[in-house]
Amino acid sequence: MQNLRIVVRGIFVYNSRPMSKIIFWDWTGTLADEARLDEAVCHSLEEDISAKRNIPLTEAERLFNNHLKDIENSWQWHDYIQHGKDFEVDWKHSQEINLDKLVLVPHARDILKYAKGKGFLNVLVTNAVRDVVLLRAKHAGVIDMFEGVIASSDAKALKAEGKHFMDGLKRFDGEPSQSYSVGDNPVQDIQPAKKIGLKTIFCEFGEKLVHYHSEHISNNHREMITADHRIKSLLDIKRIL
Ligand SMILES: [Mg+2]
Repeated sequence: MQNLRIVVRGIFVYNSRPMSKIIFWDWTGTLADEARLDEAVCHSLEEDISAKRNIPLTEAERLFNNHLKDIENSWQWHDYIQHGKDFEVDWKHSQEINLDKLVLVPHARDILKYAKGKGFLNVLVTNAVRDVVLLRAKHAGVIDMFEGVIASSDAKALKAEGKHFMDGLKRFDGEPSQSYSVGDNPVQDIQPAKKIGLKTIFCEFGEKLVHYHSEHISNNHREMITADHRIKSLLDIKRIL
C-alpha cells in the first residue's frame, strides 16, 4: 500500500489591519469653556438642596462644599449624578437649566473635523461622568464628531491614573506613538499620556475655562510637566498633525 504523506503546511496568520491613530481629547478647558456653566450648576444644586431640606442657602452651600472636600482627588468628585443622589435632588435639573452657559472653545468643531480628515479617531476622554458629558456634548452639537467617549464613570478612575488612555488604545486598537493626548491639565492630560507613549499637546488657554469649586484640580494646573507641544489656540494643532 502506497504510503501517503500528508504534508500540512504551516499557515501563517497575521493581522493585516493597520493600527489606529487616535486623538484623545480632553473636554473641560480644552474643547469646552465650562467656567460659567459649572459655577451655575453648583449654585443651582445648592439652591435645590436648600429647598429640599428647607435650610438657608448658606447652610446648603456649606454642606455641598464639605461633601466635595471629602471626596477630593477621586473621580467621584466629578460625579454630579451621585451628588444629586447623596442630597436627594434631581441632578439633571441643575444641568439642563444652565446648559446655555456652555461655550465651545473657538475652532473646536473645525479642529475635530480636521483631525478626522487626517485619519485620526477622535476619542473624548474626561473626568466628567458619562451622562453629564453626553448631555453637554450633545447640547454643544459635537457628539457626532467622536468615535468614542471614555468618562470617569467608565474607567472608574481619574485620568491621571492612565486608565482612560489604556482603555481607549485597547478598544480602538490604537498605536501609542501615532496618537496624541490634547488637554489643559498637566497632571490629568499630559503626565499619564507621556507614561504610555502618547504624544502630548498642552492647551495653555484652559486654566481660565474651568470652575474650581474646590482646590484639587487648580493645584494640578500649577505642576510643571513638559508636553511635546504647547498651543495658544486649537487651530495650532493643524501644524502639528
Ligand atoms: Mg481639562
